[in-house]
Amino acid sequence: MSEVYTPASGLTGKIARRKARLLARRPISGPVSAPVVTFSFDDFPRSAMDAALPELTRRGWRGTWYATAGFEGTENHLGALFTRGDLAELADAGQEIGCHTFAHGDASAMTGQAVDADCAKNREALAGMGLKSPLETFAFPYGEASPDAKRALEPRYRALRGVRPGINRKGSDLNLLKAVGLDGGQPGLAAALSHLNALQNRPGWLIFYAHDVRDRPSEWGCTPDFFRTVCEAVEASGAEVLSMTEALDRIEEMAL
Ligand SMILES: [Zn+2]
Repeated sequence: MSEVYTPASGLTGKIARRKARLLARRPISGPVSAPVVTFSFDDFPRSAMDAALPELTRRGWRGTWYATAGFEGTENHLGALFTRGDLAELADAGQEIGCHTFAHGDASAMTGQAVDADCAKNREALAGMGLKSPLETFAFPYGEASPDAKRALEPRYRALRGVRPGINRKGSDLNLLKAVGLDGGQPGLAAALSHLNALQNRPGWLIFYAHDVRDRPSEWGCTPDFFRTVCEAVEASGAEVLSMTEALDRIEEMAL
């Protein structure tokens, strides 16, 4: 069991995060005129495949699975992490794989060049595991970004995702998309549902991200019941559920 990394807290972390949000932006150019939801999975644990994948596939939904190749076949506080067989299963099921760096480093503590190099290593390692599709979007480990890292990754990926909660609309930053965590027990579930409610009142792109999905989840995870409840609410809301790249295509269409 490796030690759980905690990003910088306090004033220094706060100022750096503010800079990361305000600089090196790539704004969504047009209005997001219909509600769109994306389910994404970070790292990603096998339990997410066991419990969440069937919920997606039975509804004909594609999700985006942010893979850190360095985690393949290992175990940490999130439980057992994906295997190369899982990657093949996801590809066969039409799911999308995204990039989450090879070593899961904190990008705010690295040069943009180093983050870019670690992403190249991740793409190569995943291709070596048999993944054929390109990695078109990226999620920052811990949601930690910097203007330098955003600039370095912008030419490589159509979008970069963070972990700051909110709904993405015209002007939102494709280099640090907002996303709502599926974690935090009952208050976390209430927060996820309230974001969905806000989406129904005013269209936009709501991205969820999950980690482990199991009966006794980590602090970053949720239970299968939690996940199912969110899926049922999304289905009832009538929002379109799309993978990250499908959502980007749809949003480009809406801007025309
Ligand atoms: Zn991660």
